[in-house]
Amino acid sequence: MIRPYVHINSRFHKIQSFVNHLFLDVIFRAPYIGQDIFDISLVLPKYAPLINEVNHEYLLNPIKECYSICKTLSKENLKALKRGVHQNNKIRLLCNGDLAPIEYSDIDIISSPLSTQIKIFFDKLYDEAVNKAVFYHEYGKVDDYYKSLVGKSRTCRCCGINKVLIKFHSKRSALDHYFPRNYFPFTSINTNNLLPICDTCNSKYKLGENTIYEIIKRNSRIISKTRKRTFYPFSKINPYPKIDVEITLNKALSEDMIPNDMNINLVSIGYEEQVQSWDRLFGIKENYLAECCSEEMYMYYEEQYVADLNFGKTHNEYIEALERNRVGDMNFLKAAFLNGINNYV
Ligand SMILES: [Zn+2]
Repeated sequence: MIRPYVHINSRFHKIQSFVNHLFLDVIFRAPYIGQDIFDISLVLPKYAPLINEVNHEYLLNPIKECYSICKTLSKENLKALKRGVHQNNKIRLLCNGDLAPIEYSDIDIISSPLSTQIKIFFDKLYDEAVNKAVFYHEYGKVDDYYKSLVGKSRTCRCCGINKVLIKFHSKRSALDHYFPRNYFPFTSINTNNLLPICDTCNSKYKLGENTIYEIIKRNSRIISKTRKRTFYPFSKINPYPKIDVEITLNKALSEDMIPNDMNINLVSIGYEEQVQSWDRLFGIKENYLAECCSEEMYMYYEEQYVADLNFGKTHNEYIEALERNRVGDMNFLKAAFLNGINNYV
């Protein structure tokens, strides 16, 4: 991504402690606990209302099912599941390729009904339970968390060009599960995994793309699954890796350019694999070329760039000004586009 998100202080982060307690201290320890059937007294008293005071179909019922199934599991399987809770929530290390997560397909091998119940729990927790009073009185509302995180920053950090709604809008844009809920258990409420994201990235490009595996299918059968490193969205690397966009033109600029008339390259020295994953997840090259072929970009070229050059500004001065605020207003892409035009001979 062009720019990382910055963590904020929020009570919302703490819902993960509830999840960890439930799965690590109770459900995946079921064979070592006296009660045959899950009982609310098994969880810390402060967490009991969260389970009891929302529709029992959301949390209590899947917890009961998980507990009963785990009663019958081997020590090794329970150990693997516990490791999954720990590892799936270390989002930074997963992005860096330093850890292997557990997927629902792995839990299916241990117990398919368990996999189903865990999925119900994590989906209902995020989609339903956190929006109920008993949760938001304790942890704050998901909308408020989104607004604090986004603040006044309009640009989607994932694509760097489209807009997200900010704290002054009454609505909000989506929070994307960077590690998708359909593949990865235990992370539906982990704030390192929740990204404010524009509609184009969320509903048109990323969809169910697996964040860290490049999956190639033929006739809907998986023929290869390759582990890939990816950018960690809340990276604290300082300075954050710079991604250069390089555009070349195959023909002289005209109003009717199409994406095939240009080539695009994304370059970040030392982060080649992360850049590839970024493009795979968000369709970056396609988005950028479409933007460069838009009416607006052509108008920008004619009305601002050419006009400024007519007033005596040089190409380099123009690019330098764009680079000074490269993440604002698609300036990094405008600079790449103008360099492409300037370099065309
Ligand atoms: Zn976006």
